[in-house]
This record gives sequence, C-alpha cells and structure tokens, in this order.
Amino acid sequence: PVSLFLVPTPIGNLKDITLRSVEVLKSVDVILAEDTRTSGTLLKHLEITRPLQSYHIFNEHKAAEKLVERMKKGEVFALVSDAGTPAISDPGFLLVREVIAAGLEVQCLPGPTAFVPALVNSGLPNDRFVFEGFLPHKKGRKTRIDALEEESRTIIFYESPHRLTKTLEQLSESFGADRQACVSRELTKLHEENVRGTLAELIAYYETNPLKGEIVLVVAGKPEKRETREERQATKREKWNTDD
Ligand code: SAM
Repeated sequence: PVSLFLVPTPIGNLKDITLRSVEVLKSVDVILAEDTRTSGTLLKHLEITRPLQSYHIFNEHKAAEKLVERMKKGEVFALVSDAGTPAISDPGFLLVREVIAAGLEVQCLPGPTAFVPALVNSGLPNDRFVFEGFLPHKKGRKTRIDALEEESRTIIFYESPHRLTKTLEQLSESFGADRQACVSRELTKLHEENVRGTLAELIAYYETNPLKGEIVLVVAGKPEKRETREERQATKREKWNTDD
C-alpha cells in the first residue's frame, strides 16, 4: 500500500489535472499542501473535501519525521505544491527520502510540470538535457554558471521575471552571445509565449518587451566538436605510432 502520493497540480490551466490525481486526492486521509490557501481554492474547485495540512520548506525536517510516524500507523497522505509536480523545485524531497527510509511506499503521479513543455517547445535537442532549477541568487551563482560552460546537453533553468535579463547576460558572457535559447512564459495560460533566439537576441527582445509572469529558460548545450577529416587521420596516425 502507498503511504505517500505526490500529486501534480496545474501550472496555470485548471484542466490539466489528471483524472487519477482527482481520484487519489479524494481517497487520502490528509492532503499536505505547500500553501493551504492556494491548494484550498483548487480543491474546492474540484469538490475535494479531504482535510488539509500545511507542509512547507521551513519546517520540512521536523514535519517529515512526524508524518512518517503517522504513516507507520496507517494514515495515507497526498502532497501537493502550489503548482506543478511536488519536489520539483518545491518541498517534498526530504519527505520522500524519509518515507523510503522507513520502508514505506511512495508514489508520484505523472502530471503537470513546467520544464517538460518548455524543453519540448524550445525546439532544442531534447534527447539529453539537464535540469538546473533556480540558479543561486548570489553566493555560488557564478561557480554554477561556470561549471556549465562545457555542458553539451540542453540546459533548463527556472527563473523569476525580474532576474531573467541578468541571467541572460551572465550566460551570454560565459557561453557566448550566439548560443541558442528559448524563454517559455506563462505555460498553459492564456498568454503563453515561447520566445526563441540567441542569448543576444533574447536580451534585446526583453529590453523592449516588459517581462511578467512565470518563466522557464532553456539554453542549448555547447556544440560538440566534430572531428575534421584531417584530425581523424592525425588520430589514426597517432594510434599506429603508439601501437608499434
Ligand atoms: N513544481 C513546479 C514544477 O513542477 O514545475 C515548479 C515550482 S517552482 C517554485 C516555480 C517555477 O516554475 C517558476 O518560477 C517558473 O520558473 C516555473 N513555472 C511554474 N509554472 C510555470 C508556467 N505556467 N510557465 C512557465 N514557468 C512556470
């Protein structure tokens, strides 16, 4: 039996909740919410009347221990965040880890999350990608960006609108202004917008188009260097020489 369900909630469009998510939310003993007011509104809309309890990052360690004790006695919980999939740049990881350590079952339902549509909409290679979540605001920010300089996979960032320009500029400095990228704004909402271009083009675009709403930034990885014919032959020659 599952003790903890992680239930994704819409990232804008209320129709994006799955039938199974509704079913599970109706069946659990308690719904844990990052913000009981936000989730209360959604649950009311879905006519779900299970008890709500707050679960946020500030009390995560202590709360997780207490909840696991209750799960051991048979209570079943669902965790929801304000939007999207719990534990993805949201509280949840610690609880999941504690529940697993206690030998209990965790199940994350599939559903809305912002980075998947952003990645696909970007039109950038999506066979290999890295999710970086939010960059640190101050300390460690530069180190993190520098560490991505050689990254060849497509890179996904969550970003707030007022920090986007600064981030685009810093990435442009590290990766080069001609690196392709895409800004996905207000996914699933009325004013959804996906702006594609080089980092330089995006910086220019947001100089005249004021930024509002929620944002995912997707940046192409560093182009993998393809060996030229001469380089391939040189490698072969080198191999023969060392094999002798
Ligand atoms: N748990 C969520 C998920 O599964 O995507 C992410 C929560 S995180 C606190 C919030 C960030 O997700 C926002 O700052 C933004 O980067 C991204 N985000 C959430 N909803 C979005 C939307 N409708 N459009 C674009 N980005 C969104």
